[in-house]
Amino acid sequence: MATFNSHYPVTGEVLASYEITERDEVNLAVDLARDASHAWVAMGFAGRRKVLLRWSKLLMQRVDEITELIAKETGKPISDAKLEASLAAGHLAWAARHAESVMRTSHRSPGALMANMSATVERSPVGVVGVIGPWNYPIFTPMGSISYALAAGNTVVFKPSEFTPGVGKLLAETFAEVAPSSRIFSCVTGLGETGKYLCESGVNKLAFTGSTRTAKVVAATCAASMTPVVLECGGKDPVIVAADADIKRAADATVWSSMSNAGQTCIGAERVYVDAKVAEEFKAEVLAVAKKIHSGAPGQGNYGPATMPSQIKVIQSHIDDAIARGGKALLGGSNSVHAPFVEPVVLADVPEDSLAITDETFGPTIVINTVADMDEAILLSNASKYGLGASVWSRRKGKKIASQLQCGMVAINSTISFAAIATVPFGGVKDSGYGRIHGPEGILEFTYPRTVIRARFQLPIVFTSFKRTAGSDKLIVNLTKWLNGRLG
Ligand code: NDP
Repeated sequence: MATFNSHYPVTGEVLASYEITERDEVNLAVDLARDASHAWVAMGFAGRRKVLLRWSKLLMQRVDEITELIAKETGKPISDAKLEASLAAGHLAWAARHAESVMRTSHRSPGALMANMSATVERSPVGVVGVIGPWNYPIFTPMGSISYALAAGNTVVFKPSEFTPGVGKLLAETFAEVAPSSRIFSCVTGLGETGKYLCESGVNKLAFTGSTRTAKVVAATCAASMTPVVLECGGKDPVIVAADADIKRAADATVWSSMSNAGQTCIGAERVYVDAKVAEEFKAEVLAVAKKIHSGAPGQGNYGPATMPSQIKVIQSHIDDAIARGGKALLGGSNSVHAPFVEPVVLADVPEDSLAITDETFGPTIVINTVADMDEAILLSNASKYGLGASVWSRRKGKKIASQLQCGMVAINSTISFAAIATVPFGGVKDSGYGRIHGPEGILEFTYPRTVIRARFQLPIVFTSFKRTAGSDKLIVNLTKWLNGRLG
């Protein structure tokens, strides 16, 4: 059996060894999940709710063990890992409690021509869902798909990132403790190839979180078998600061949003567009906050190292490119990068075609660019190929600005908070992906609609028959004209 190792990113020390799951075993896991789905569906909403709530409770009972493992595999502070695990357990409980009402059969109007029909739309689970997860939030992010897919009545096979396989295994182990069968939710560890096998395994839907580059490969692989996909990819989230913003709060939240978790947050702030009238004040506040934070091992820093070693090169290249093109380094710079850590970097006046503006940096850096007015801020925010999240700081114009942004989620006078609200959907547009997790939309994403109509009584005129007469043709045309006139 081929294996790979997980590492502690602070020192590179080997933590554990995991199986590289080959194609046959991935297919077997999917087959077993398919077998298990009959029993899982048969348990009904109440039965599934019980299991999933028990799982949520167990995750919180073992939160110390889970967070220690997350901190080991990612290098992030224990308190961040605890927040992540708690939010994941909260989403799981919400999905468990609300799947029934969200998936309730809906009754639709049959229209005047079909007045003798009852028209209903049922929601069915898709079957087996494959989930491919990232390493930056190894429990919160994949659970956004896993929880909602399971609550909808699907079984799930999960392929965690090669950087966080232990968290994936622990999720499957804890589920097995509370579930009637471990086949309902299982974990296959491995490298990118194992993820590819999962895409090709015949799962009924594939939920992916990670880079846009890999998302396109995943979507292309899944297209060969018409497997639908949900893609949660990267972002280049803008922060818009208006002249009437609470500058202190905006600066504090922006530094946290861009630098917590070492900047490895898909919905983290990456670029700021601040009104020229308050730009100097805002920059001064950002610097005051950013100067007080530093990277370090769990227990020693405000945030940890780059979890994925190769990310360091990306961060370095974005900083160097921004400065080479005339951007100003207000705090730190090229020498802030000392692998595996990166100290806070604040850049200003960076040209809009620089890598630090166009591409996802995924490091503890922030670019602050000054704009003449909010129209320019909106224009530049929307100029990105990404469209995941955004944050707007304004006392009076927040809603108006937010309504003009091309992205999946906007926080007004707040940051990132939409991820913690279980009732709202999470996802992006453009290169940030498509499909939604979280909220009712997240449950429906893992279902398909089935239309069921029933003839309540038979009409004297039959439309769906070779016996249809010229008289009934005339009636249809006249009735449609009359209805159009009446409704128009
Ligand atoms: P990837 O997109 O390459 O990896 C995400 C997941 O996809 C991992 O589980 C990975 O497995 C798996 N995978 C890799 N190749 C394939 C394939 N051909 N078919 C199916 N699955 C595959 O992200 P990286 O970890 O390499 O990070 C690269 C960049 O992505 C980061 O710099 C960051 O910008 C962005 N990113 C965005 C995230 C987000 O939350 N939106 C999360 C993580 C990264 P394995 O890990 O074993 O290779």
